[in-house]
Amino acid sequence: MINKPDIRSKILGELVRLSNNLGRIDYHLAIIGEGNTSAKVEVKDIAGSFFIKASGTQLATVTENDFIQVYFEPIMQLINMENPGAKEINYIFEKAKVDKKYQPNPSVETLLHAICLNLEGVNFVGHTHPTAVNRLTCSKSFPENLKGRIYPDEIILLGKESVFIPYTDPGAQLAQRAKKEIEIFLDKHGERPKSIYIQNHGFIALGSTPAEVENITFMADKAAEIRFGALLAGGINTFSEDIVNYISERPDEKYRQNLFKKI
Ligand SMILES: [Zn+2]
Repeated sequence: MINKPDIRSKILGELVRLSNNLGRIDYHLAIIGEGNTSAKVEVKDIAGSFFIKASGTQLATVTENDFIQVYFEPIMQLINMENPGAKEINYIFEKAKVDKKYQPNPSVETLLHAICLNLEGVNFVGHTHPTAVNRLTCSKSFPENLKGRIYPDEIILLGKESVFIPYTDPGAQLAQRAKKEIEIFLDKHGERPKSIYIQNHGFIALGSTPAEVENITFMADKAAEIRFGALLAGGINTFSEDIVNYISERPDEKYRQNLFKKI
């Protein structure tokens, strides 16, 4: 049987590897201080918490010391506050730290990660600013050119559809808007999203494993390249809803989908 500190360090080790991979300079997903990652820590008899990257650290080089473990509850309270100021946010961030002696501040996007990790089956979250994706999130046509699905593996990895968030100030406002858009998605599709595009900002991958977060991010990056090319070649040809539903329900595709979640 694995004891609690072992579970904690296993998750942290996986999160560091995921972060370093997403930060690889040759992947063009995030540079310098861009992006952040998180992981849920579910340990019985300890209130729910998660690891989040500390503010000002770099995905490419983060180590275990650059992640802060915070409790969900105070962070969720903050999201429900009308318009929290910087002072309130800092106070609650301090209150949320599992280790109160730990100095660094959690990322400004801690609230956004809390919303995503709170969804059933989401254990790891990767937020990046991929160059190819941001070509389209920063275009005047957002979100049109990212809507629908264009090839089978885009459906398998990113889900039948994605969540789209109009540009919102990062922090509490963005988290509140994300919560609202995810609720609309859940109502419409009856399942949680795997991929979120934020206007003039970037991408979020929601996975049950670190491998799934990487795969979703890589596939979104590739899909954005193809979509951009298709636009130049006369327009994006998206699948009909029937085809999207058919592919996502095929037993062989479901089998592949589960394999892709493994590390
Ligand atoms: Zn960002």
